[in-house]
Amino acid sequence: MSVSRQTTQARQATQAEDKAGRRERILRAAVRQGLLDPESALLAAFVDLDGVDETVASLRAAFPASLQVLHAFAAKANCLVPVLEELRRGGMGCEVASAGELAQALEAGFDPADIVFDSPAKTRAELVRALSLGVTVNADSFEELERIDDILAARPSGSRIGVRVNPQVGGGTISAMSTATATSKFGVPLEDEGNRERLFQAYRDRPWLTWVHTHVGSQGCPLDLIAGGIAKAVAFAEEINTRLGRRQVTGIDIGGGLPVNFADDETTPGFDTYVDRLREHTPALFSGDYEIVTEFGRSVLAKNGFMAAYVEYTKTVGGRPIAITHAGAQVATRTVFAPDAWPLRIEAYDPGGNAKAGPPVAQDIAGPCCFAGDLLARDRTLPRLDTGDLVVVPDTGAYYFSTPFHYNSLPEPAVHGARVDADGKVTFRPLRPAQAAHPLAPALAAR
Ligand SMILES: *Cc1c(COP(=O)(O)O)cnc(C)c1O
Repeated sequence: MSVSRQTTQARQATQAEDKAGRRERILRAAVRQGLLDPESALLAAFVDLDGVDETVASLRAAFPASLQVLHAFAAKANCLVPVLEELRRGGMGCEVASAGELAQALEAGFDPADIVFDSPAKTRAELVRALSLGVTVNADSFEELERIDDILAARPSGSRIGVRVNPQVGGGTISAMSTATATSKFGVPLEDEGNRERLFQAYRDRPWLTWVHTHVGSQGCPLDLIAGGIAKAVAFAEEINTRLGRRQVTGIDIGGGLPVNFADDETTPGFDTYVDRLREHTPALFSGDYEIVTEFGRSVLAKNGFMAAYVEYTKTVGGRPIAITHAGAQVATRTVFAPDAWPLRIEAYDPGGNAKAGPPVAQDIAGPCCFAGDLLARDRTLPRLDTGDLVVVPDTGAYYFSTPFHYNSLPEPAVHGARVDADGKVTFRPLRPAQAAHPLAPALAAR
């Protein structure tokens, strides 16, 4: 093992300990300050803002400083405006995929030039708005390119415009997350009969088409698959420039999709590992000939957020203990509906927010929703949970509490941003207020 590898591993271990330590401090402070309360705040979510800073710094450090890189956070991973603001202050851009996300990015103060609009279903009105603002647009299809032609004929735009290509390198272990399969709905498939030529002509006829975009997939896609897909997109850009005899393509948007480790607090693979892999697959990306855009979502936020929920009741059914908590499908939709693809860790704490001790017992951790499958974990070994305890669900900073599911009219929980200073003091700031159970619920409760 090389010295630098050893240092990397040591650094990762320290960061993992720090992350777990901050989570416990944040939890205890939240209980003390009433942000978690067994009567009135049964479920709450937290974003570790120090962790976010660390992650953004590691992303920025992973790419050579000599290259022009815009790291556009994929807003769908956590679309809360104060979270987006935090990322903007950290130097990131923002990738959006709907009119709603575009509005959130603008509200968070992103310069339109730092916003990238990707969606396979952009309406004419959305395109007009994006192109008039100067937002970067990646066309998803030949039909969309024709729509852009019409819009630009009426009104020129300063937007950077690219085409999303599907390198068709295949999928990862979660099919719903794989976007570079032979028949994916995203982008222009590079390997379909006649497409390369048709795409080449599209670039030749449109000198304003200066970017190539790809996003190979998300969780479940191995790094080599992602890097291999990006390499094909870069090779295609090189082919266009060579055949045209001019450097028309000046930028490559390499998408996001770095998988996240949901098994413990280690951040593996890191962005540096990813960049090493990219260098092996596509040295041309690092030649300095191209500007780069990245679109990471999950890998920026997942490990920097967690949820905490009270156990309302416990029971034993068919011999197995079950803890009924207030976190279920409304905040962990993917895990509840696809538990094998999206397993989450669960930690057990006492009502004061101190880690529970005791012999491990296999138990189910259920949510509050009225359907039998509403389980955060099945047959999970943990110290036995009791009524009034807290369960913590780490690694949920992306695609969980930020995109709730309104089943059973369950309200969106509050989201608190937290910072822990050198003395261990925790400061909170609101990122999203708790939703009332019903617009009339506070008034009804007061009657
Ligand atoms: C979802 C998505 C991303 C982000 O994916 P992560 O797995 O969260 O990093 C980036 N680009 C596009 C086009 C996406 O659809």
